[in-house]
Amino acid sequence: MHTCVFCEIVAGRGTASIFYEDDLVLGFMDINPVTPGHALVISKAHAPRLADLDEATGRHLFTVAQRTAAAIRSSGVTCEGINLFVADGEAAGQEVDHVHLHVIPRYRGDGFRIAANWGNRPSRAELDLVAAQIADGYRAL
Ligand code: AMP
Ligand code: ZN
Repeated sequence: MHTCVFCEIVAGRGTASIFYEDDLVLGFMDINPVTPGHALVISKAHAPRLADLDEATGRHLFTVAQRTAAAIRSSGVTCEGINLFVADGEAAGQEVDHVHLHVIPRYRGDGFRIAANWGNRPSRAELDLVAAQIADGYRAL
């Protein structure tokens, strides 16, 4: 039987600290917060990957994440900045196969890191080439 930890929360069978709910999405606290106030906004419908999510729900997911960021900023939670983060696919670090958007309060010295080479400086020709590849991808949609 397929069980999904986030579907269990949507169904009310899993425990969660919920701060927002509507017909399409649910907002609750991450059980392993990277900073205090680390929130998740999920689609209520089970969609494993972004490509499985209908675009209307995707728009609404982002709208609610945007509002969640505003709510965190006007709350008592320590917050000097916000990161929105989606892991789409195992290689991208996705651990729960049900689309979710992380809303992460940030402040100086919080220790949050995304280990990556941020110093790459490809040539314009290389950037143009990859832009053309992605444009081809758009045509294939
Ligand atoms: P990701 O790597 O983007 O798939 O992140 C999954 C996130 O879900 C992690 O930050 C987990 O801490 C969080 N998580 C997993 N199970 C639960 C749960 N039952 N309630 C709240 N957050 C959870
Ligand atoms: Zn699910």
